[in-house]
Amino acid sequence: MRNAPAIDAATLSTLLNELRLPAIKVLWPDFAERADKEGWPAARFLSVIAEHELAERDRRRIERHLAEARLPPGKTLDSFDFDAVPMVSKAQVMAIAAGDSWLAKGANILLFGPPGGGKSHLAAAIGLALIENGWRVLFMRTTELVQKLQVARRELQLESAIAKLDKFDLLILDDLAYVTKDQAETSVLFELISARYERRSIMITANQPFGEWNRVFPDPAMTLAAVDRLVHHATIFEMNVESYRRRSAIEAKRQRGRPASFATMRNAAEIDAARQSEPNEALAALPGLNCSLRMGYCLI
Ligand code: ADP
Ligand code: MG
Repeated sequence: MRNAPAIDAATLSTLLNELRLPAIKVLWPDFAERADKEGWPAARFLSVIAEHELAERDRRRIERHLAEARLPPGKTLDSFDFDAVPMVSKAQVMAIAAGDSWLAKGANILLFGPPGGGKSHLAAAIGLALIENGWRVLFMRTTELVQKLQVARRELQLESAIAKLDKFDLLILDDLAYVTKDQAETSVLFELISARYERRSIMITANQPFGEWNRVFPDPAMTLAAVDRLVHHATIFEMNVESYRRRSAIEAKRQRGRPASFATMRNAAEIDAARQSEPNEALAALPGLNCSLRMGYCLI
């Protein structure tokens, strides 16, 4: 084919452009040469380049879906240490990551646990796997989405804003706990949950299970109605583990050869005060300390 008249190649390029077949446009000369050399039947040549076009189309679609999903970078199932959360079954998560059995019926997933336990990581990693399997996902901090929906409501566009989110098979709402009462008053979150009920899936990460959700919705009846819809078809993971970061830091220190006897009770009042103000995060922020909440000690 390389010997074919230049005009043919140029015409073919134009045709392939018009037909929107960019992969074939790039690949055909090499495949044509190989087909000529190896005496492929025409049907084989055609199906090979068609397959390449299709594969390239899938790749581009996944790339687009990845870009729109706004997942936090680097959070994959491969890099998730399942041993750190023994209550979460890897097999179950892998089945969830395939998507088929639950996304089609709009079921939900709820991830609960204290800060640092890997909720956001697991949610993002499942989201990534789902996108690779052809689903559409949007990852957002709950506060950010609530703000956007509130703006839409003010502009009398709430319904269409919620409808636009329908294109996503899964909406990941990260950190429900940080929706403030102020934001809750307009109840946009409730409207979103109601609109997606039994149609489109939601995944929620939250530090507190339902007990605290009265802070999120305007009144107890609405909280109950929201929880009811969310849990009707839901898988709940309770990731009650200590902060992974803190554990990793302690482990790293151990591996540097520091004997465990260096573990010392230090500044208990400071730790207690921090724990009461903002439990785990504040502890993590204490300078020079790697603390184990459960064991109540710090390595200094
Ligand atoms: P949460 O959302 O529960 O507060 P994150 O998912 O943000 O916790 O986890 C805090 C940090 O620790 C992140 O950098 C995350 O990647 C890491 N991490 C947490 N749990 C695990 C785990 N089981 N395996 C690997 N990394 C983890
Ligand atoms: Mg998180």
